[in-house]
Amino acid sequence: MTTLKQDLEFLCKLQNYEIQISNIEKEIYNIFSLIKEKNIQINNKEKDFRIMKTNFLNLNLTKKEKENELYNKEKVISKYSIELNNAKSNDIYKKIQSKIKDLQHDKSNLEEVILNMEYKLDYESKTIKETKNNICKFKEIINEEIKQLEKHIKFLKTEILKVNEYIKNCRSNISNTSLAEYDKRNNSKKNKRKSICIVERESCSCCGIILRPQIINQIKKYNKIVFCDNCSCILFKK
Ligand SMILES: [Zn+2]
Repeated sequence: MTTLKQDLEFLCKLQNYEIQISNIEKEIYNIFSLIKEKNIQINNKEKDFRIMKTNFLNLNLTKKEKENELYNKEKVISKYSIELNNAKSNDIYKKIQSKIKDLQHDKSNLEEVILNMEYKLDYESKTIKETKNNICKFKEIINEEIKQLEKHIKFLKTEILKVNEYIKNCRSNISNTSLAEYDKRNNSKKNKRKSICIVERESCSCCGIILRPQIINQIKKYNKIVFCDNCSCILFKK
């Protein structure tokens, strides 16, 4: 059989353990959010890298098309060159010559375009290689961080089990009546208010209201549970 004072002391402990659990749960939640954020960072980098690679492949494809175009133009030029040698009149000769000139102009433009593409591809290929290495390093660092965070979550979960064990022990030391009053307040907790408050300087430490002297006297007697008039939490004075 426990005295009311002992009950109240255990209720204070119980409340502290419950706050501890709630804080650990908050910490676990925050760590999970952090892990999620880190995974998003990795995914974003990989997504950017995929876009970079696709752009590179597309540019390479366009370059091949241009090279093909150049090859066809060269073929037509050589065809006209033969025709030029066999031209039967001065008029035809001049017409073919003009066509060859236009084609050669196109050819030189194409060659310039292809050369620029080669420079760009060369540069992009180096950038891709660098980016790939950077992403690998970044992933290594982040994955190690995630591993440590997951390890910490594991530790926190064992802490919860430990504290839950303390709670169980604590509850077994409290009388059913006191426990029922505490649980009633604990379950109906709004604004995350405390269920039991220590009286400090004649006022309720939960809501701050100054308590009537009569209430203070009742608390000191420890013959019945006294509640705060304002926030209805259980009052306790050490
Ligand atoms: Zn109060």
